[in-house]
Amino acid sequence: MLRQVAEGVLIHQSEFCQSNAVVVQGRAGALLIDAGIYGYEMACLANDLSESGQTVAASFSTHFHWDHVLWHARFGAAPRYGTARCASAIRDWLSGPHWKDSIAGMIPPDIAEQITWDLFGGITGLAAGTARIPWDGPEIQIMEHQAHAAGHAALLIEERGVLVAGDMLSDALIPMLDLNGAADPIEDYLAALRLLEGVAGHVDVLVPGHGSIGGADQVRERIDQDRAYVRALRDAGAPDDPRVGPSATFDWMSGVHERQLQQLARRREREGTPG
Ligand SMILES: [Zn+2]
Repeated sequence: MLRQVAEGVLIHQSEFCQSNAVVVQGRAGALLIDAGIYGYEMACLANDLSESGQTVAASFSTHFHWDHVLWHARFGAAPRYGTARCASAIRDWLSGPHWKDSIAGMIPPDIAEQITWDLFGGITGLAAGTARIPWDGPEIQIMEHQAHAAGHAALLIEERGVLVAGDMLSDALIPMLDLNGAADPIEDYLAALRLLEGVAGHVDVLVPGHGSIGGADQVRERIDQDRAYVRALRDAGAPDDPRVGPSATFDWMSGVHERQLQQLARRREREGTPG
């Protein structure tokens, strides 16, 4: 079911992990951002679009993680964009021999079997430094940074006051750092939060990749909350954060936090950095 969050901007929330697919209405078809998870949900979204007389003109994936690069045949053959780094990361992963095994390690089998992997990951990289999504609709600014995943992009639809944050600024998920790929994951994350803070004054509606939609009053609040978490993680402290506490939306979030602490401690040992 599509829900309008701003003029010409609609959301379809998945039953998987409160994932938000975003529809932006354009002049000649819609732009889909992070198209969805389960096949039946994407088919439902395709129905909603065709019933309102719209086709999919293009799509954009905020980053290369599996839950952001799925697709459904009924969306058609529209170009599926991502940043250059996003496209090369998914290409590298898919060209390895074992990506299906690594999916099995990431997703419980009952979920994986509800997902159609046929059109998975077919992302066309936009040239590095591309400032806007090339399409016929409201201007959408690409804000690339390196928090969470290589080539992650937040999208600012300024004339609609909407920030599509990808996997940041969630009320349900803590910041998940890129602890395998990045040279300085903590600083990458803090830099990305500063980048988002720079546009916070233009945002009335915040759409996280997972979790609930935030209003203007929540933009700075969520930036501060993410920053406090990342600093606590950096200092190996215990975060005072409802997303990992007893009232957490997802009970597995505390396990993610523990793993991040351990991985950071191991990195420090390897690098010989004191503390
Ligand atoms: Zn995600």
